[in-house]
Amino acid sequence: MNYYILLGPPGAGKGTQAKLIVEKCGYLHISTGDLLRGEIARNTELGKQAAEIINRGDLVPDAIVEGMIKNKIVENPNVKGFLFDGFPRTIAQAESLDVMLEEFGGKVDSVLSITLDDSLVFERIQHRAQIEGRKDDAEPATIQRRIANYHDKTEPLISYYKEKGNYHEIEGNDTIEAVFNNLLPLLN
Ligand code: AMP
Repeated sequence: MNYYILLGPPGAGKGTQAKLIVEKCGYLHISTGDLLRGEIARNTELGKQAAEIINRGDLVPDAIVEGMIKNKIVENPNVKGFLFDGFPRTIAQAESLDVMLEEFGGKVDSVLSITLDDSLVFERIQHRAQIEGRKDDAEPATIQRRIANYHDKTEPLISYYKEKGNYHEIEGNDTIEAVFNNLLPLLN
């Protein structure tokens, strides 16, 4: 079983690349953002809790997303591999994922980190706001908050995975095809 992580700031193109990777390689794509938006759409208790946090640009508590990931792994024992998109986002989540995968006899095979400058992140999210209508894409202050959270809480994962030796960086300021072609050799 292979486990891959797509890392990168909001708007780096993780979701777009995940779709292409899944078409080509057949891994199961798990986006914690999509799962949370599903909970919000169904108006579940968890969705109600998460909506407020997401709409102000903060991260939901680690335990919530860790539980979602664990459920998905348990529910899908026969897939070729997993592609995590937007998870982990904190060191605590990364450590929890390591423990979880060890329980399942696996490990993180590669971390694919799509990089993008803050100014381009901002531009891309503002553009996406007009297409997808996500609430957390709408307000400049929320976008700034998400960028700040990325730097504070998620960027430390770069050193975490560099130390483990499974970290790969791909420039995100390129065409969708070029980014995909740079990602492909890093997957089995
Ligand atoms: P995304 O679709 O990945 O941009 O995620 C949208 C929002 O969902 C984020 O801004 C967070 O509020 C929340 N979220 C998604 N994944 C995580 C995660 N791994 N940890 C905490 N919050 C998350």
